[in-house]
Amino acid sequence: MVIDNATLLIGIAFSSASLLLALLVGWLNSRNETYLVFGAGGMALVVLALMSMGLRNGAYGLFNQLIPFSLLLAGFSLVYAGARRFRNKHAALWPAALAAIVTIAATATPLVLGLSGLGTLVLNLSSALLMLLCAYEHWRSDDRLRLALTAIATLYTATAVSFVCCAALIAIEGSWDLTAPPDNWAEDFNSIISLVGLTGIGAFTLTLHHARVAAHHHTEANTDPLTGVLNRRALFERFGASKPPLNAAVLMFDLDHFKQVNDRLGHAEGDRVLQRFAGVLDQELRQADIASRIGGEEFCVVLRDADQETAKVIAERIRQAFADLELAIDDNGLIATVSIGLAISTTEEDFSALLNRADAALYQAKNGGRNQVRLAALRLVA
Ligand code: GH3
Ligand code: MG
Ligand code: MG
Repeated sequence: MVIDNATLLIGIAFSSASLLLALLVGWLNSRNETYLVFGAGGMALVVLALMSMGLRNGAYGLFNQLIPFSLLLAGFSLVYAGARRFRNKHAALWPAALAAIVTIAATATPLVLGLSGLGTLVLNLSSALLMLLCAYEHWRSDDRLRLALTAIATLYTATAVSFVCCAALIAIEGSWDLTAPPDNWAEDFNSIISLVGLTGIGAFTLTLHHARVAAHHHTEANTDPLTGVLNRRALFERFGASKPPLNAAVLMFDLDHFKQVNDRLGHAEGDRVLQRFAGVLDQELRQADIASRIGGEEFCVVLRDADQETAKVIAERIRQAFADLELAIDDNGLIATVSIGLAISTTEEDFSALLNRADAALYQAKNGGRNQVRLAALRLVA
């Protein structure tokens, strides 16, 4: 081969070290993404393993096999822990710890018994298993960038295959007792695939990380921090420029006597009432409906595929559920309630015209004595 295996090992070590740094920088910018730390920690152990492999000068002995092999398997297990945390932020760590203990013990046993070739074979199979587990975690991850996930899973699988080839060659040749690391096409193949795999996995992982950060910022920019529903900006981004979907209904809400809630109970309690109202919306709305807070104590809901009767029922349910909370405003039995204006979409009008009609109906609900639902006229009366 043009490049000898030792040079490739050095290449892999450098590639791992730069990946480690990139993952650490990513983690410094978003500390709750713990998968980046596990990935970086795993890479650090892999670099140490490769360096100690380089130091052994081509000779095999108990300790200069045991130490790099254990470091390598511990490193891969940490990478596996990172892959689990990538898929699920709160994934348990014990499967990765168990994988490390089992694979290191399985590899060390033949080495201690003097079967260095068998130990190398088990190391290769263990590494293949850990790579496949990483591939599985990425394959099953629920992320929008499907292509990057597939690429990462493919690279892990290819690396696993190359480790299996190394193991297979040892078995076919029956080299149970080796005095030096195997030197054959499978080892070269494994080194090249590992180099390509590490670089590719690193690049795709960082791409996914940045996509997640961007998605997080997008959600934050569109969400009302107090109640967790969409904000005004997000609502108008969805519907502002377009005609509302056919068979849609708009509900406009304004909490009743809200100034009194603030004046009598304080602003913090007022905030809690707003959160309770958002909770009612969450409980009463269907999956496809869109709730937003468009002002201080004003909310807007777009109901999809709702005819007049369905929309009326939903609006009435929300009104009743909020009143049933019986959030006291004063000592004379005044409780927090909501007034609702309801408008059904027509083919002629755009979204803001529909909102205006719902707003006019809300105004009527207020004038009619509050704590009630009013249906908008089909046309606004000038
Ligand atoms: P009405 O029944 O006619 O709707 O009377 P109202 O007291 O609700 O009147 P209005 O709609 O004018 O009052 C809105 C109040 O909402 C005024 C403002 O102090 C309060 N408010 C606006 N944003 C917030 C907020 O984020 N938190 C709290 N606690 N209060 C808010
Ligand atoms: Mg208001
Ligand atoms: Mg109000």
